[in-house]
Amino acid sequence: MTSTPGRNGSREAQLPTVIDPDVPSIARAYDATLGGKDNYEVDREVARQLREVTPEVTTLAWDNRDFLIRATRFIVGTVGIDQIVDVGSGLPTVENTHDVAVRFNPDTCVVYVDIDPIVIAHGRALVEDHETVHCVQGDLTAPETLLRDPEVAGRLDWDRPMALYQVGTLHHVADDRDPAAMMRTYVDALPSGSHVVLSHFFSPGDEDPEAAAVAERLEHAFLHSPMGTGRFRTREEIAAYFDGLEFVDPGLETLAYWWPEGPPPENLDPARRLMIGAVARKP
Ligand code: SAM
Repeated sequence: MTSTPGRNGSREAQLPTVIDPDVPSIARAYDATLGGKDNYEVDREVARQLREVTPEVTTLAWDNRDFLIRATRFIVGTVGIDQIVDVGSGLPTVENTHDVAVRFNPDTCVVYVDIDPIVIAHGRALVEDHETVHCVQGDLTAPETLLRDPEVAGRLDWDRPMALYQVGTLHHVADDRDPAAMMRTYVDALPSGSHVVLSHFFSPGDEDPEAAAVAERLEHAFLHSPMGTGRFRTREEIAAYFDGLEFVDPGLETLAYWWPEGPPPENLDPARRLMIGAVARKP
């Protein structure tokens, strides 16, 4: 490894260390939505409120996880990338990134990064038998600090392509934090030939008024939940996160249609039309 974005960087932001069972967390509420066990009553209550808006929110969460699995197969199995930084990785509810990656290449280096201390605690226990899989606490809204962290930067070979994941993360970043600028910092740091895997809540507007109405209700529920985050953005806003990158076919697509296994599902429920994602390559 010859060049990194500054391996001596120290953590500037204060990261949470305490797990509070009375305050819902995004990772645990997502886990509850997927039917996982690593959550508290407050998290299940958030999941229940979202299901009241639309029961299909559970299927949407699974579409997101399935997208992550298919994208990882593509990244490791087809492109041949062997180092992945999975930002906002969440709890290892079912198949996680490294489960899929090591099946194609047992030497794949996976660096999971999440802000939530419960994700880090579970993650470290889960990966302790895997020499090339690491779990690091970090804040994705501070990309320079995250990428400089020796536990992240030092695990990666910055002279070779890598994959950066932002799967279901940036909709938890408010507009005034400028998520597009954050993504530019991430993309700038990546070596040529690297890939970005990203999915995001989608606000279809006039393109799909039926789904747009559900998006509005869900966004209201997310923003007024104790988590307070969950922005549904337009196709143009989400496309901007891929600036400087070339989309891999089929481009920015409804998750259930991004390389679905078997025939593409027909007549998707409106809620399942509310996340889009893509894989894109840095030239
Ligand atoms: N990427 C996983 C997936 O798609 O299955 C998990 C997605 S979950 C909806 C969002 C994750 O982002 C949570 O685990 C949450 O803790 C994490 N997250 C939210 N804000 C974050 C931040 N500022 N820094 C790092 N992680 C963050």
